[in-house]
Formats: sequence, C-alpha cells, structure tokens
Amino acid sequence: MWKMSFNVAMDGPAGAGKSTVARAVAKEMGLIYVDTGAMYRAMALFMLREGVDLKDSGKIAENCTRADITIRYEDGVQVVCLNGENVNGYIRTEEVGEAASVISPVPLVRENMVRLQKALAARSDCIMDGRDIGTCVLPEAQLKIYLTASSEVRAKRRYDELTAKGESCDLQQIKADIEDRDYRDMHREMSPLKQAEDAVLVDTSDMTQEEVIAEITKLCGQARA
Ligand code: C5P
Repeated sequence: MWKMSFNVAMDGPAGAGKSTVARAVAKEMGLIYVDTGAMYRAMALFMLREGVDLKDSGKIAENCTRADITIRYEDGVQVVCLNGENVNGYIRTEEVGEAASVISPVPLVRENMVRLQKALAARSDCIMDGRDIGTCVLPEAQLKIYLTASSEVRAKRRYDELTAKGESCDLQQIKADIEDRDYRDMHREMSPLKQAEDAVLVDTSDMTQEEVIAEITKLCGQARA
C-alpha cells in the first residue's frame, strides 16, 4: 500500500552543525540522512577538475549536464558518485566548499539537484539538510528546522576541527570566509538561504551538540506521532 514518507527538512548557514546533528538524529529515528551540500560539492569538484571558469555561469550551465551525480548508501553512509566514481574523499576541502557556493546559484545546476533530492525524499523516510530544503525541495516536510549559530561560534568550531586534524589555519580568515559564503547563499536569486515560515528556529550558539541532538530528536518524535 502507498504510504507517504516522513521527511524532515533542515536548513541553515555553513558550519551550524547541520550534518553532525542530522546524522545523529537520523540514526536515533531510523531515517536516511541526505546531505545535499555533498551533491553541490560533487558538481563543484567536476567543474574544478575540468578547469571550468567559475566566474562564467554560462560555462557552468553548459558543462553541468556532463556531470552525472548520484547517491547511494553503504552501511548507512551516503556515497556521492560523480560519473560513477565515489568522490566522498575529495569533496570536504575548503576549496570545494567555496566552489560549491559559487556554482550553486546557476539555475540548471539547482534544477538537476532538486529533482534528484525530491525523488529520494519521495521514496524514503529521511532527514535532508541544505539551504533550500524547507523552502523549495520539501515544502510539505512534516518538520522543518532552521539551525543556526553566530558566525563567531561557527568559525571557532571550524577552527577547532581543523587544528584537531593538525592543519594550521587562521580564525579571522575562517570567519571572513564563512561570512562571504553566508552572503552568497542568502543573496542569490534562486532559492536563497532563508528560514521557511513554518520552520522551527534552533540557535545552537550556546548549546552543546548533545543538547541540539536531543532537542531535534524530540521535535522529530512529536512530528511523527
Ligand atoms: O552544506 P555545504 O557546506 O556542504 O554546502 C556547500 C555549498 O553548496 C553551500 O555553501 C551552498 O552554496 C550550496 N548548497 C545549496 N543548496 C543546498 C545545499 C548546499 O545551494 N541545498
């Protein structure tokens, strides 16, 4: 018998902790976690590898149809494939993240990604995170969350993550990059990042990760009941 899937939409700016929280909540609630940023990152990786001029949106649109991006799950982990190659190991760099926010405003890129994301959500109970999930991809989601934190806090978390990995980095530079990325994501013409009217705002600036996960798991439980 046909059953409507249970969908949770989670949006917010870079570094708000969406992926860590969504992954944990997915596990707790038995949902699939769909990281849509990874799909834009895979598209950005394609453009970087092909040497496409990222300032030329016409060239991005022209080339994006050559990138076949698909998602599959291995032991519950999302694997993003670019023209059949598992690119999970290549998409987490700052360079690719920046490039993703440059190519993501291109309408043809978004149309292709959104089609794939809607199809995934229609067939699975999932929590999907990104920038336009509550406003555009899953407007009918049973629960929408807007997860945010101040840019200082987000920059500090990123800084701690990188220094823990032994990478040298500059806190002020990270903060400036985060603010640039927020600006681009919030001011683009098509599907800018914004809180959906019916989304629950969760500001994590003064919360621990455990508190955030507990709060969102509670909201999911209520929405599913
Ligand atoms: O979330 P993440 O940092 O991996 O996303 C990388 C970039 O991809 C974002 O800065 C944004 O420009 C773009 N993106 C988007 N829509 C989404 C998810 C990500 O435009 N649903």
